Amino acid sequence: KKPPVRKGSMADVPASLMEQITRFEEVFTVPAEKLKEVTERFVGELNKGLSKKGGNIPMIPGWVMDFPTGSETGDYLAIDLGGTNLRVVLVKLGGKRDFDTTQSKYKLPDHMRTGSADALFSFIADCLKAFLDEEFPEGVDHALPLGFTFSYPASQDRINEGFLQRWTKGFDIDGVEGKDVVPMLQEQLKKRDIPIDVVALINDTTGTLVASMYTDPETRMGCIFGTGVNGAYYDVCSGVEKLQGRLADDVDPDAPMAINCEYGSFDNELITLPRTKYDILVDKQSPRPGQQSFEKMTSGYYLGELLRLALVDLAGQGLIFSGQDLSKLEKPYVMDTAYPARIEEDPFENLEDTYDIFKNELGVETTNGERKLIRRLAELIGTRASRMSVCGIAAVCKKRGYKTAHIAADGSVFNLYPGFKERAAAGLRDIFDWEVKKNYEDYPIVIVAAEDGSGAGAAIIAALTQKRLAAGKS
Ligand code: BGC
Ligand code: MG
Repeated sequence: KKPPVRKGSMADVPASLMEQITRFEEVFTVPAEKLKEVTERFVGELNKGLSKKGGNIPMIPGWVMDFPTGSETGDYLAIDLGGTNLRVVLVKLGGKRDFDTTQSKYKLPDHMRTGSADALFSFIADCLKAFLDEEFPEGVDHALPLGFTFSYPASQDRINEGFLQRWTKGFDIDGVEGKDVVPMLQEQLKKRDIPIDVVALINDTTGTLVASMYTDPETRMGCIFGTGVNGAYYDVCSGVEKLQGRLADDVDPDAPMAINCEYGSFDNELITLPRTKYDILVDKQSPRPGQQSFEKMTSGYYLGELLRLALVDLAGQGLIFSGQDLSKLEKPYVMDTAYPARIEEDPFENLEDTYDIFKNELGVETTNGERKLIRRLAELIGTRASRMSVCGIAAVCKKRGYKTAHIAADGSVFNLYPGFKERAAAGLRDIFDWEVKKNYEDYPIVIVAAEDGSGAGAAIIAALTQKRLAAGKS
């Protein structure tokens, strides 16, 4: 999407609202100096996470210990348990840096985010069964290898397990934290006699890294800017102190190891993040206060909520929406990221789309001045998120000494939020002091659209795993 063109002047905004806008500008603007400071601390935190003692950022070894060559072939299944959908994908790897996919999406029933583990894994197994019946009506003659994309922090000592550390992104299902999710899935598959072998459990960022490297060897990171934020990259085994004693004897110390950073948890200690009172509120009212502090300022799950909280605050002070029924607006999370995105895209001088959004969806009649304030606030929140979220990329590149790189990115915010790419590029430029270029694609480290990590990526990783096993490697 093109960066939004801001139309209209602020000349007709009443002084009382201008004062609030100025206040928002002060607290939501993140200058270059702050980005640099955050990045510096980020590098140290990545290193801490790799140490034996560990740190606050999990830095989870993903046990993908090969680079894809682009010549991997075969048919694989992949499932992607995202925040809103379960996606089942049949991937045919072509072996010439190409692949074909066939997929189905199944809407995750709303209650499942906070339901039982049994219900969740039964649902996944039922969807897999429906998919197989559709794609292989005659049945299959051997168990199909499956890559399971599980986009939550999960500890692994080998590739086909994943002990959930904690739920993120508003998921809250009892009895899963601290446990391996692979047997939970296998058990439901077995109950239904579904011929599938779960070969690998991967994070969506690791999948993004590998899928994008399969087609583009310049890829150095896989990142998600979506409901959650996170990144993965390849380190070398010998550079990961906490792997000492956990590697088989036949492993070359220089072998690559994919690391799922889980950097959404950066600065849970709250030393450097420039939080506003709305960030503090979002955290307090979340099911997991004190966790995912970086994610709560940057990911799609929270952007609309930040906007909502700021508006409710002003309304509570009698500064906006006076005399309006605010019952809809007062509902937590009623504004998802599509709200600030659509508000930023409103092309009209008087923000007519924004008028309709508030009137029709939230039951609030807005004045022209209020809409200009809302628009400016959306810009500030969206801009801060994109600038801040590149600190993770900059930190990994600094740590690894990458001077040039393709950073493969995916996720709803990256793909749909207007202006995200340009703002993110400007953030990187500020951190690295690059000279201004006309096109954001011309900077040495460039964020590019990823290949389908949770589908193709999971399949490629399953293929790499089978190749390793066939070669007798651990
Ligand atoms: C999860 C990560 C995931 C990211 C993007 C975060 O909330 O902890 O595992 O990669 O969201 O989906
Ligand atoms: Mg996803």
